[in-house]
Amino acid sequence: MTAFTDIDSCATAESPAVLRVEEARTAILQHIETVSGWHKLALRDALNRVLFTEVIAPHNVPAHNNSAMDGYAVRSEDFVAERTVLQQVGSAFAGTPFIGDVSAGQCVRIMTGAVLPAGCDSVIMQEQTETDNDQIICHGEIKAGQNIRLIGEDLRAGDTVLSAGKRLTPADLGLLASIGQAEVTVYRQPRVAFFSTGDELRSLGEPLTPGDVYDSNRYTLFAMLNRLGVDIIDMGVITDSPEALRHALLQASNDADVVITSGGVSVGEADYIKQLLAELGEVHFWKIAMKPGRPLAYGKIADAHFFGLPGNPVSVMVTFYQFVQPALHKLAGTAVQEPLQLQVVAAETIRKRPGRFEFQRGLLRHNAANQLEVTISSEQGSGILHSMSHANCFILLDEECDGVAAGDLVTVQPFAGLI
Ligand code: AMP
Ligand code: MG
Repeated sequence: MTAFTDIDSCATAESPAVLRVEEARTAILQHIETVSGWHKLALRDALNRVLFTEVIAPHNVPAHNNSAMDGYAVRSEDFVAERTVLQQVGSAFAGTPFIGDVSAGQCVRIMTGAVLPAGCDSVIMQEQTETDNDQIICHGEIKAGQNIRLIGEDLRAGDTVLSAGKRLTPADLGLLASIGQAEVTVYRQPRVAFFSTGDELRSLGEPLTPGDVYDSNRYTLFAMLNRLGVDIIDMGVITDSPEALRHALLQASNDADVVITSGGVSVGEADYIKQLLAELGEVHFWKIAMKPGRPLAYGKIADAHFFGLPGNPVSVMVTFYQFVQPALHKLAGTAVQEPLQLQVVAAETIRKRPGRFEFQRGLLRHNAANQLEVTISSEQGSGILHSMSHANCFILLDEECDGVAAGDLVTVQPFAGLI
């Protein structure tokens, strides 16, 4: 745990170090190792799973030169004039090739996907021809190779089709099918246990008494985890009692690779959880120079990684995307990818004080000049969850930024590339 020692060296119990977002993310990622288990899955079950081994093409795709059009397979050398008359000697269908050689002055009726007959080098589109019994009158020129899909033009035998660590998309499933692969070897999914903490939290279906709130983090966390394709252990709400928390943390760290909690890491509550976590493992409480989401706990309880996220609903989502999601990607075996960022015009003034990195919630859209511009999605408080729901991007404002004037460029992170 060397990174912890480095980072904490300037911290005291009263004033923990303030970390920049990037420093905290790097420190966390240093401690994450990809899960070691793997298994084989049928192709259909492998969507969104992470490839354990690279896949090599066992043969060429396509396996033969074939027609890209419905028309006639021809020899381009026969085309010397504007009008060429050929004799049709047979037909080639997808799945039923023409057997035999095609000589000078001859052609073969051919359908899209049919193997190119021996002797032919091109296909003339049906639209450029007329028929007169078995005579085919062709109009226009043709170049050698025209309307042909070449052997191996998609994949060559021996090519790497997909690399280990690739999260499988619909296109990948199709690509694997195209080389005849019915099963794939994928990493086992990381197991993630999570629970919400707070005496004021009520589960859905329970009545609210004054001061209570419904446990919304349970649903945002569940949904974010679900999209990442991890095995989820949803432990519901745990009250702010040391005994209940101890029991839940022990059980979660025993059952899962990652334990995520929300709530209970802010200054008022941290001391009491700190004591408990110090007893159970090595967990560090960080102040991160970010808004929302300043407090964050990260460490290990036995072999499980522990993330103590703040309780405020927007802070939970922001800290999840910035710290937990990259860690889960690495654990799952995928390369950690920087989410897409765009420079766009701020359509209005954005208020900000220097000091912390802010993840404001924004609405990205096209203006009348068809340029991308962004506005703030709504009120920006860390408890205002509808600001996330109405938004389609984060507006990233770095520590030093002291506000943005309308018309200035700002960096945004579209949600579509993030989740
Ligand atoms: P905490 O970090 O525990 O001090 O909580 C900060 C704020 O977030 C408080 O207003 C909590 O009521 C609220 N909060 C904590 N956990 C949840 C949750 N699971 N769902 C909704 N609000 C929560
Ligand atoms: Mg609390």
